[in-house]
Amino acid sequence: MSNAETKEDAPRDMRRSLKRGLRCKCPNCGIGSVFKGYLKVRTECEACGLDLTPQRADDGPAYVVILLVGHFVGFALPVFFESFRDNPLLVACLLSVVSIVMALALLPPVKGMFVAFQWAKRMHGFGAPRTPADVSP
Ligand SMILES: [Zn+2]
Repeated sequence: MSNAETKEDAPRDMRRSLKRGLRCKCPNCGIGSVFKGYLKVRTECEACGLDLTPQRADDGPAYVVILLVGHFVGFALPVFFESFRDNPLLVACLLSVVSIVMALALLPPVKGMFVAFQWAKRMHGFGAPRTPADVSP
């Protein structure tokens, strides 16, 4: 077994790759951006050349964001309602804006973490590195 094969088979650091995904960075190098727009995943990392096409985040990030935002708004509703008891329309508008802003803010980092998780677990074709730069620094 060659040295390169040993590095390819080495376990990938889940915590480090999730942190990089949270920052919307490449799970392999942590330098290049995973996205080329708001949520469009690049075909490859601009820094290390990691092929990002095997990622299959699909609707997963949206479900997680709905779960998080729903819990926050669900617990915030009684508090807001107590604070603005005289004006329920204000409560509805305020929580609607908070929900939209939270969802839009959370989607990219959650999707980045999904891509990083799949890379760290070698899911969907992430197991076979296609470039020699697939070795963590
Ligand atoms: Zn990279």
